[in-house]
Amino acid sequence: MSRTTLVRGGTVVDCDGERIADVRLGSDGRIATVSAGLDATADDDTYDAAGCYVVPGGVDVHTHLHLPVGNVRVSDDFDTGTRAAAIGGTTTIIDYVTAYRGEDPLAALATWQSWAEPSVIDYGLHMTFTEPVPERMIADCVARGVTSFKLYMAYPELLQVDDDTILKIMRHARKHGALVTLHCEDGDAIESLRQAALAAGRTGVIEHANTRPAQLEAQATARAARLAEQADADAYVVHLSSAPALAAVREAQERGVRIAAETCPQYLYLDVSALERDDGANFVCTPPLRDAWHADELWEGLARGWIHTVATDHCPFWMHDRRAGTQARADGYRDFTEIPGGLPGIETRLALVWDGVRAGRITVADWVRLCAEAPARTFGLWPAKGSLQIGSDADVVVWDPRHAQGLAAGDLHMAVDHSPYAGHTTTGWPRAVWSRGRLVAERGRCIAEPATGRYLERHAVWSG
Ligand code: MN
Repeated sequence: MSRTTLVRGGTVVDCDGERIADVRLGSDGRIATVSAGLDATADDDTYDAAGCYVVPGGVDVHTHLHLPVGNVRVSDDFDTGTRAAAIGGTTTIIDYVTAYRGEDPLAALATWQSWAEPSVIDYGLHMTFTEPVPERMIADCVARGVTSFKLYMAYPELLQVDDDTILKIMRHARKHGALVTLHCEDGDAIESLRQAALAAGRTGVIEHANTRPAQLEAQATARAARLAEQADADAYVVHLSSAPALAAVREAQERGVRIAAETCPQYLYLDVSALERDDGANFVCTPPLRDAWHADELWEGLARGWIHTVATDHCPFWMHDRRAGTQARADGYRDFTEIPGGLPGIETRLALVWDGVRAGRITVADWVRLCAEAPARTFGLWPAKGSLQIGSDADVVVWDPRHAQGLAAGDLHMAVDHSPYAGHTTTGWPRAVWSRGRLVAERGRCIAEPATGRYLERHAVWSG
């Protein structure tokens, strides 16, 4: 009964810096003590972390689990996806609810909450609006712990909203202490390029990238920043993928706009040439993969603090669903516009960003900040998540910096039969992972009891 865990002898890294210390995980699921040279008590189960880093559990603020896309569905649900997340060192996710046009957002929220019940780690939800909503709806969401909203500047058919809607929702959000996140691509211009490509008979996978150029991401990013400035609101750019879009964020930050940006490992490690491979359809994501030089700029942005967070946009599909396309055609997708877009990544984020530490691009402290602390602060979870301070949730990762980990689908635990990083081995992987004091994963195995994650009611969020 009421056992505690003493994680001994590791190098603790969190907002209080880097030091050799022992960490006691209390029987209430919170951090009880962090101090050098703690003596084990009769209540302690001890865990040897010598030679390892001890860090806050990862916080992945951009996931899509269980999600239907056209006639197919994302291959990970909240059980398989959160188990894989735990194995990779992530103990909190925030998944995106979408209220499609004509749907009651609170009904959509209830749907996602029922989908999310099998989670084995804690989870929050963002709300996506696809049409104007009254201020009352913002208040209703905030009252339910949904303190961030997503708006798409792309996908005119299904998701896109106009600038008037963006401005109004930004003003409402500001009033209620909520944050607007934006998918920044110029959807109308992209639609025109797509139609032109199809009309010219250019239907191959590479056209996905050719019709979504970085300049149209940059243009929408700059427009999002202008709207945030007008509304005097905070804004957060999801999945920033290119150097021109980063330049737009920088330019806005320099004139005082409160805008933050997230990037994803796929934009740091993969490039557009993957779309020309035989299995190129497996690399379709939006924004698309870019020419390799963009990644150097993104790493620089991470090191300098211009990019705030690394999330995954985890959105995997079985290969047979990719081939069938969103229309689920027996003879396969007809053209690039029917390929379900999104990559697996919920398990591999910490390891891939850690590779940037090994390469000397960022520091260990940056890694913790980008993967745990900053997203927890920004999305209303601080200091319960993203921190090892006393009283924070005992979400703890013992990170073995010497463990060599393959990244082929067979080495990993996400419900998907391909890996964008197949053929790569990283060095650095979790040895043990706790969620609220419960050991949930150890050495590549998830041992969590089903449905033990909790819904996180997030508090009002970031300003500046
Ligand atoms: Mn997404």
